[in-house]
Amino acid sequence: MPGYSSDRFPDLSAEDRDEYTCSICHEIFNTPVTTSCCLQTFCDDCITEWLETNNTCPYDRKRLTASELSRASRVLVNTMGRFKIRCDYWDKGCRQVIKFDKLPQHTINCSYNITMCVKCEHVMTSGHDCIESLRAEIAALKLALSDRDHNNRYHPLSIPSTSNAKRLGKSDFHGQLSGACGKLVVVYFYDFWVDLGKKSDSVFTIMCAELANEVLFLKVDVDDNEDIATDHKVSVMPTFILIKNKQKVDELSSTNETKLRQLIRKHM
Ligand SMILES: [Zn+2]
Ligand SMILES: [Zn+2]
Ligand SMILES: [Zn+2]
Ligand SMILES: [Zn+2]
Repeated sequence: MPGYSSDRFPDLSAEDRDEYTCSICHEIFNTPVTTSCCLQTFCDDCITEWLETNNTCPYDRKRLTASELSRASRVLVNTMGRFKIRCDYWDKGCRQVIKFDKLPQHTINCSYNITMCVKCEHVMTSGHDCIESLRAEIAALKLALSDRDHNNRYHPLSIPSTSNAKRLGKSDFHGQLSGACGKLVVVYFYDFWVDLGKKSDSVFTIMCAELANEVLFLKVDVDDNEDIATDHKVSVMPTFILIKNKQKVDELSSTNETKLRQLIRKHM
């Protein structure tokens, strides 16, 4: 890595800037080393790279090899250590100006030191796992969505939403079936990600709004409730299953509104 841009040192005097600038990269020294021939200082990387293709000192053109370089004087290193430098993540929003010798430590702990995973585009934390990370996001989205449904339900001007139908887990599910007594139960099996906002969703919403008093509508996200889907031999999404007295009486694996209405009327 070549030197540090002098812009990063907000209160560096012009004099100091000239004194601590590497004549190869024209930036402030990064890991300064000094030549034996003329005691000139350069960034370690700059002079090392230079010596890969040259065998002379860039300053006085005397013969020079990498073994003739030594760490810059302690005075120089200590003086530079007191310079104030902007954080590496200034562009990302960190507004810290740190003593130069504390920079490596700050960089590690800086809260703007965030790397995004190239695969799942989530923040990389230590021990990052894409699958876990995506699961957490799905859970958060579902929560947000059910909150939204909940709010709609209690909003006096809201259009009928699928929240009229209950979303539930397996034990709730059987409880609901028992509680329905002789009432017709229509269960909408759907895949949250595939069917969200699709036609089946709106058909179901219309039915709910229309027949909420006569029919019990339930919706089962197969992602969360694979077991309920398996129990009812549902393999295609979306599927509507009609249940009466805990017995399946009909099934429809299409989003045809007329057909669904006919089936419901038939069994009501
Ligand atoms: Zn340099
Ligand atoms: Zn020299
Ligand atoms: Zn920072
Ligand atoms: Zn990832």
